[in-house]
Amino acid sequence: MRIDLHTHSRASDGTQSPEELVHAAAAAGLDVLALTDHDTSAGWESATRAALEAGISLVLGMEISTRYAGRGVHLLGYLPDPTYPPLVEELQRIVEGRNHRVPETLVRLAELGIDLDADEVRRLAGPTAALGRPHIADALVAAGVVVSRDEAFQELLSAGRPGYVDRYAAPLAEMIGLVREAGGVSVVAHPWGRQDPGVLDEAGLAELAGQGLAGIEVDHEDHSAQSRDRLRSIARDLGLVATGSSDHHGLGKAGHELGCNTTDPEQLERLLALAAEAARASGRDVPAVVAG
Ligand code: AMP
Ligand code: ZN
Ligand code: FE
Ligand code: FE
Repeated sequence: MRIDLHTHSRASDGTQSPEELVHAAAAAGLDVLALTDHDTSAGWESATRAALEAGISLVLGMEISTRYAGRGVHLLGYLPDPTYPPLVEELQRIVEGRNHRVPETLVRLAELGIDLDADEVRRLAGPTAALGRPHIADALVAAGVVVSRDEAFQELLSAGRPGYVDRYAAPLAEMIGLVREAGGVSVVAHPWGRQDPGVLDEAGLAELAGQGLAGIEVDHEDHSAQSRDRLRSIARDLGLVATGSSDHHGLGKAGHELGCNTTDPEQLERLLALAAEAARASGRDVPAVVAG
């Protein structure tokens, strides 16, 4: 049983449509896939149709942009009711922040002598519901300024680089609460990844566990072997679920192939049991796992 609980489609900043992603996951031999686009459920419907066709199980989720101690933290929300109004409102606010950031970033880049057209960024981004830096990176590649998304981030777009602009993100504890009220469960994504080392230490993770966090993404390409060991033991001590995932973005992120990290079936079972409990407590109409 091969389970990958964190992937992106063109509904956010992946390079495959939700359908292509689901079929690629089935072809890669995965039994369970979670679609977790940034800050949107826009890909859920087409992914569901494709999963039924491809015979793969699908867990619907999203990777939500949050803030903790002034730093960005990504929160995976699984199986919430996507129509829960407070969640909808907060996601709208995040997406607006994303939309505002694009012209602001283009001004920064223009100051560096790099002229990009906002319409070209939009065109390259296609049908995304969550415009992001990777789409600006794609425009930089198309303009011949850099050769890859990776180089665009390293040179220009990462925090601390000259093209970086901050944007709105939801308070982490509040978002854990909203996902729960919406009948879903939260897993903190790559807490000790390259972009966020030291933001959440053991005490921070314990605090989040007390606020209703269900799990920690332990096995992720951005985590060293030592970090994985340490996070696994923290998860065990705190009674949190430990997950593993690819964080696949199609061709958009090298080294994150589908199934490169996977989640233990027993851990998924625990996560789904917690989701069922949250769904009951919320009384909301949550999506079911699509059975493949
Ligand atoms: P944004 O959502 O606009 O804040 O951009 C962050 C997203 O950019 C992350 O979710 C990653 O998928 C992607 N990203 C970050 N660093 C890199 C990198 N070095 N190469 C490719 N994609 C990256
Ligand atoms: Zn991304
Ligand atoms: Fe992330
Ligand atoms: Fe991600």
